[in-house]
Amino acid sequence: MTNWMVAGNWKMNTTSSEAIALAQSVRDATPRLSEGEIVLAPPFTVLSSVNEIVKGSHIKLAAQNIFYEDKGAYTGEISPAMLKDVGCTYVIIGHSERRKYFHETDETVNLKVKKGLGSGLKCIICVGETEEEREKGVMEFVVGIQIKKAMSGIEALDNVVIAYEPVWAIGTGKNATSAEAEEMHHFIRNVLGETYGDVVNKVRILYGGSVTPENIGELIGMKNINGALVGGASLKSETFIGIIKRMTEKR
Ligand code: PEP
Repeated sequence: MTNWMVAGNWKMNTTSSEAIALAQSVRDATPRLSEGEIVLAPPFTVLSSVNEIVKGSHIKLAAQNIFYEDKGAYTGEISPAMLKDVGCTYVIIGHSERRKYFHETDETVNLKVKKGLGSGLKCIICVGETEEEREKGVMEFVVGIQIKKAMSGIEALDNVVIAYEPVWAIGTGKNATSAEAEEMHHFIRNVLGETYGDVVNKVRILYGGSVTPENIGELIGMKNINGALVGGASLKSETFIGIIKRMTEKR
């Protein structure tokens, strides 16, 4: 697959001046791609300013979350129309930090995926097992349920990207080996294939969890790994750009 993606999840980081500097530096140091996509997911507060920097460029904008209603009395929430209005093409849904700290469930993830896709946003859906689940050997069971529930009622895979992010690898410096990641990516593709058939071969499945310029090469050498969702290493332009350079060299 040539259609890879590297997405930077800035989480709850960057003031506006920091966000502007980081986005400018990523934009200026990365090539316009004939294949592959670079995506930045800054916090809500700076989406508009980052959009001013990336619009018309080769970089796409993503939000880190969405709400599943169009408008109304939902204090603190952000609708799909609001995200599109500030230039978002993508939205990250079901990140493990949202599941852990904000009690998101497979059901709310599904509502968000339905609303996001129905509103014309492309969805990066995050799944992944905890350390305990891996130790018990139930990672396929857990991730299989997450995938099936997130995708329940979704007819087409066109605007869907999956991010496999083992919870034990996020922000820990302990990434999954390329073999462990490939095994799960292969599994996820098979699960999706049961419902969607061969079109599943076109779906991008990203790996996320302590990705760095040093380990991305081996990860994306695997057949079913189509890029990366990057947290910590996306906050420094040198490391994020380093990851993108490795992608462009390898593919
Ligand atoms: C993430 O938060 O999606 C992530 C993968 O973080 P990190 O790269 O810091 O592990």
